[in-house]
Amino acid sequence: MSEKFGFKVIITGDTAVGKTSLVRRYCDNKFDANQKPSIGADFTIKVVHFAKYEVILTIWDIGGQVLFDNLRDFYYQGSDAGIIVFDVTNQDSLKRISAKWLPEMQSINNISIIILANKIDLKQDRIIGPEECQQLSNDLGIPVFETSAKTGINVKKAFEVLAKSLVER
Ligand code: GDP
Ligand code: MG
Repeated sequence: MSEKFGFKVIITGDTAVGKTSLVRRYCDNKFDANQKPSIGADFTIKVVHFAKYEVILTIWDIGGQVLFDNLRDFYYQGSDAGIIVFDVTNQDSLKRISAKWLPEMQSINNISIIILANKIDLKQDRIIGPEECQQLSNDLGIPVFETSAKTGINVKKAFEVLAKSLVER
């Protein structure tokens, strides 16, 4: 018999950094170059197995245009883990991690956080390199994974490291 765990995971970050695309890549192994902007909040369930564990992740993906504070509170409420995404071709999306997304997320008790540096397939346009990602991880003390929802690189790994850390804590 496997031991079952359920966790709520929220994914945040600036608009168009690839949040919905990363969830789709992880849950359905699909990518859409014309991914439509998300409206409101939606969740996807993913079941992960490792060792003797069955881990059920409820992954909440919220749209950029959150008009109601109570929806935001509901979204954050009871989260076990948070994934913050930025786009390695967009400096502002990185700045907003320290300015907004991280402090907001750290207001939740006992939350495990990882950061995804997404769109690394865009080699020509990339302005935030691997050294800067490593530096960010060191400065914040938070794991940073370099990902691409387009190619899928590191996406499964990031979610599974997170799931594992949730079971182990
Ligand atoms: P969200 O607003 O953060 O949910 O971002 P979306 O998932 O809607 O993605 C915004 C746009 O970026 C869409 O056109 C996606 O196809 C594109 N996109 C997302 N992830 C990647 C990636 O890893 N590489 C590339 N090249 N494009 C991506
Ligand atoms: Mg979205």
